[in-house]
Amino acid sequence: MSDSTKCNEVISEESLEETIKEQNELSRNLAAMIGASLNLDEKSAKHKKKPPGKSPGKSTGKSPAEPAPARKAKPTTTPRPSAPNIDDDKDKKEFFENPEELSCKLDTLADWIKESKHCIVFTGAGISTSTGIPDFRSGMNTVLKTGPGKWELQAKGVAAPKGSIKKSYLKAIPSASHMAIVKLHKEGLVKFVVSQNTDGLHLRSGIKPELLAELHGNTNLEKCSKCGTKYLRDFRTRSSKKVHDHKTGRHCDNLKCRGDLVDSIINFGESLPEKELNKGFEEADKSDLCIVLGSSLRVTPAADIPENVIRNRQRVVICNLQKTPLNDHCALEIHAQIDEVMVGVMKRLGLDIPAFTINRRLAVDVSDGKISFQGLDVARETPYSFLRTVKVTFRQGSGDSVLLTREPFVTPLPPGVTQPFKADIILGLQGHYNEPDIKITEEFNGKTLYMLSYRPRDGGDWKVTRN
Ligand SMILES: [Zn+2]
Repeated sequence: MSDSTKCNEVISEESLEETIKEQNELSRNLAAMIGASLNLDEKSAKHKKKPPGKSPGKSTGKSPAEPAPARKAKPTTTPRPSAPNIDDDKDKKEFFENPEELSCKLDTLADWIKESKHCIVFTGAGISTSTGIPDFRSGMNTVLKTGPGKWELQAKGVAAPKGSIKKSYLKAIPSASHMAIVKLHKEGLVKFVVSQNTDGLHLRSGIKPELLAELHGNTNLEKCSKCGTKYLRDFRTRSSKKVHDHKTGRHCDNLKCRGDLVDSIINFGESLPEKELNKGFEEADKSDLCIVLGSSLRVTPAADIPENVIRNRQRVVICNLQKTPLNDHCALEIHAQIDEVMVGVMKRLGLDIPAFTINRRLAVDVSDGKISFQGLDVARETPYSFLRTVKVTFRQGSGDSVLLTREPFVTPLPPGVTQPFKADIILGLQGHYNEPDIKITEEFNGKTLYMLSYRPRDGGDWKVTRN
């Protein structure tokens, strides 16, 4: 992988203090290079904004475009200069549309979504602040209930103001905007999601993994350093306090491999996952509409993705409270909180926003005189450790009960138990959403795959279906 795919800012929640120090060091080292973060080249700087085009009668788009500048190559071998620049107060200023302006802009955005052939969404920390997860850059006077950003607090050397809300990644419920994106995808109106966030909320909201590029990793995802197998966990995978030590202490399930597992968080100066980054650029090249939701667009090379859409003379809509380096070049800028934008757009499109549902899969396998339980992601591709305990009560033989408390959840069949047999299963979970245990009573024979669904806001029991 080339140096160009390195992330030039910290995005890991876990290693904030260490990474801030490193940022400052890098900023000094790159001082000569840091003229402005995310510079467009001279030619493209002349590039004017994409018009509202075919948008019927809406007045919010920007002026007509000049001939397109040469398309910028994918990340070059030069490290991208990018400074956090959190001391600059003008970057922290929050802007707000007046209600009429906002309504008009949302009309335009809804029309553009309907017109688009390949709409992609690019998300940053601003899409998650309404879930209780603080962002990085918001200033001391932010309107956000999560309070000032982490970097801002670090720079000022102060704690979050009293009353600021802070939720852990694992307890956060995907926002109305996360869920709106799921619906837009189901309706064929959003083709792909690129995210700078490590909170895992897009995946948890129900976006399929193949339609998502998490450029900076996912706090719930770890990978085998030898064979590359991915493992999702319903707990934080990162364990080391050292910034660049990614080993989690766990090992690959494959007995022939047993490689060290490493967390997927990308720290400052580390390489972005090439596959995800390339996919992001491929989607940008196909995109005729890129909606930026809650990103300062100051983190490269991630921010090069919407920039490429601009260079291709296609529409980029930037929804963010603060200005970004691309606002002068985008087709439409909307200064409002992200949920306000997405709720308004969905209303205009006549689409309901679905309630957040936890969806998981469970594989139960009876073979070789044993019964085993394996959590999987919805796509059935990635092992997903969401079980805490498994209690099996066999209704054959002497009616033995077995409590399994660690992976792999596997136990021999007791004497007198043969296939097919009936058993009561109680699955204990991590409980981040106060979800109840899952109870399954079935006749087991060979392999069975279950879909498990639960709506935290409704409470009640899990819906368990075979498939
Ligand atoms: Zn492995």
